Amino acid sequence: MRVIIAGGGIGGLTAALALHAAGIEAEVFEATAEIKPLGVGINILPHAVRELTELGLGDALAATGIATRELRYISAHGQEIWREPRGLAAGYRWPQYSIHRGRLHMLLLEAARARLGAAHIHTGRRLARVTQNAAGATAHFAGGTTATAGALVAGDGIHSAARAQRHPDEGAPRWKGAVLWRATSVAPPFLGGATMIQCGHHELKFVCYPIADNADGTQLINWIAERVLPADAAWGREGWNRAGRVEDFAPFYDSWRWDFLDVPALMRQAEAVYEFPMVDRDPLPRWSEGRVTLLGDAAHPMYPIGSNGASQAILDARVLAMHLARGATVQAGLAAYEATRRPPTAAITLANRGLGPDLILQEVHRRAPDGFTRLHDVISEAELRQTADWYKQLAGFDPILLNQRESFAA
Ligand SMILES: Cc1cc2nc3c(=O)[nH]c(=O)nc-3n(C[C@H](O)[C@H](O)[C@H](O)COP(=O)(O)OP(=O)(O)OC[C@H]3O[C@@H](n4cnc5c(N)ncnc54)[C@H](O)[C@@H]3O)c2cc1C
Repeated sequence: MRVIIAGGGIGGLTAALALHAAGIEAEVFEATAEIKPLGVGINILPHAVRELTELGLGDALAATGIATRELRYISAHGQEIWREPRGLAAGYRWPQYSIHRGRLHMLLLEAARARLGAAHIHTGRRLARVTQNAAGATAHFAGGTTATAGALVAGDGIHSAARAQRHPDEGAPRWKGAVLWRATSVAPPFLGGATMIQCGHHELKFVCYPIADNADGTQLINWIAERVLPADAAWGREGWNRAGRVEDFAPFYDSWRWDFLDVPALMRQAEAVYEFPMVDRDPLPRWSEGRVTLLGDAAHPMYPIGSNGASQAILDARVLAMHLARGATVQAGLAAYEATRRPPTAAITLANRGLGPDLILQEVHRRAPDGFTRLHDVISEAELRQTADWYKQLAGFDPILLNQRESFAA
């Protein structure tokens, strides 16, 4: 069997590696002329690290990212609300990595070229539409070229051409008024150098974590400023490389100068700022049709809450390979993949609309907008723990369950 993968992003390349490991020939067709190390920080949760480790990428990940040890929730007044260990420190058998998306992307690309052969990774091939018959599925690319194989997997991101063809009335991604400014700064480590912090509340949030160590003792620190704009604010179509302006958000964080981190100072040190509206799409009733299916953001674009976008795309890739290898037919394999992956990713998409685990920030802000003297007068330990545990179960990384389960390909 041969599989065409449209889109050479995180999900598409992982799918190529997973299919290759399962003994299935895969060929990737990426729209951009050259695959470059784009983006800023991203998190790979332990369940996705497990899958990449099974694909032989554990050492490369360890050499590239920061093994996150802790997550803290902090109010807009700099007061700690919740802290929990992460990755190995939380007892998982696999780390959690905070990593530069571009470096992760290059790591996957290098492995895919080495294992599948460079000739199997095509660039400058933008999927325009898909057709299929009893014998195979055909990708039609802009410019008129085509490729045919037994199955076609569309991992072509949030503006997926295959998804638009199947759901022509869906339109643009859904935007509810929040904008993210993503950036990196080089700065000294904060809180021990392996902590992720989520601060503020729904209307004004700040997320920050290191993604690489530098030789001089500083770190490359990823941060995201998130602000809900006034209801009448207009916004253009999003783009991953759209430059943002520090003056559009930095003034709102003027007072966020804490003993463990000076947020305005970090913002002033930004190397580059990218702006992106917080968008997602409604969960779909179906991903697969015959020999064609969707994967990653093409299948389930979700708000970047709870560190799930890349992790869920990686899980998709491994489950897809497993079911294609085991399925009696391509169609049965794709149907089994969808049955495994569509319900949980739909649940995460909807939970993220309700703020996911960040709900606790909003609750504390609602109950004590001016700060608190004693946290547990505002919110109980049980409520905090319940929210944290609920989300881990929902997103498939409950530590007890995860440690018991074998990987998807086992
Ligand atoms: C340039 C870029 C920068 C990003 N930066 C960040 C970031 O800083 N932080 C973060 O959390 N997430 C970022 N993301 C999104 C993140 O990578 C995804 O949410 C997640 O990893 C899921 O991966 P995916 O492979 O499904 O989608 P993506 O990683 O978005 O990959 C989709 C791929 O498909 C290609 N493509 C698009 N249309 C077509 C087509 N018609 N035919 C063929 N190929 C096509 C795209 O060029 C891209 O390479 C970025 C995505 C991109 C494309």
